[in-house]
Amino acid sequence: MSTIEEMIAKVRARIREAAQAAHRDPAAVGLLAVSKTQPAAAIRQAHASGMTDFGENYLQEALAKQAELGDLELTWHFIGPIQSNKTRAIAEHFAWVHSVDRLKIAQRLAEQRPAHLPPLNICLQVNVSGEVSKSGCAPEELPALASAVAQLPHLRLRGLMAIPEPSDDPREQHAAFARLRQLQSALPFDLDTLSMGMSHDLEAAIAEGATWVRVGTALFGARDYGTRP
Ligand SMILES: *Cc1c(COP(=O)(O)O)cnc(C)c1O
Repeated sequence: MSTIEEMIAKVRARIREAAQAAHRDPAAVGLLAVSKTQPAAAIRQAHASGMTDFGENYLQEALAKQAELGDLELTWHFIGPIQSNKTRAIAEHFAWVHSVDRLKIAQRLAEQRPAHLPPLNICLQVNVSGEVSKSGCAPEELPALASAVAQLPHLRLRGLMAIPEPSDDPREQHAAFARLRQLQSALPFDLDTLSMGMSHDLEAAIAEGATWVRVGTALFGARDYGTRP
């Protein structure tokens, strides 16, 4: 087995065990491979081992890899911070966006989503860790943002996403993910997606209802930011 293949098998086993412990169907937890900073060859290898969904944070890097991997059937998720001048390319080249945290960005994505493509799947990123985090809308702003986004054409509001402050304390991990689940269930929409949990805390996220876990390091190994400005 290749290293990536082994790592995928390990992460799948963690997902299965966490789901079973929570009396959830393991098939209800999607594994999003976070491939930022990884070369196209690593994505190709992961795809050969059954991975279909890939998450990217940096637009230019993602577009280059998409062009290189155009022969594969992959589903691309944008999960990084979004600047206004990047929305058109995101609307054109991704199936999901997990990191929408303000209306202006959602409006631009709605306007710029090509009509021949299916609606763009949207998760609203919520800041569940208070002042320590800069990304994500405040929980108090969420109901208004969700109502506005739900009405936009060419978008499909699927659910919520969070990146809680990293913690080694399982209680803190659970509390942050439970918060996101509660915020979601308080919204008057039929939402089916909770994008939460990464390499170090996916068990807690699955226990609290994650439907996508976004996993980078545990699948591909440590990231090398050396060439990044
Ligand atoms: C990098 C990243 C991940 C993956 O993190 P790992 O700790 O490597 O699993 C998940 N979500 C987002 C938004 C990220 O930027």
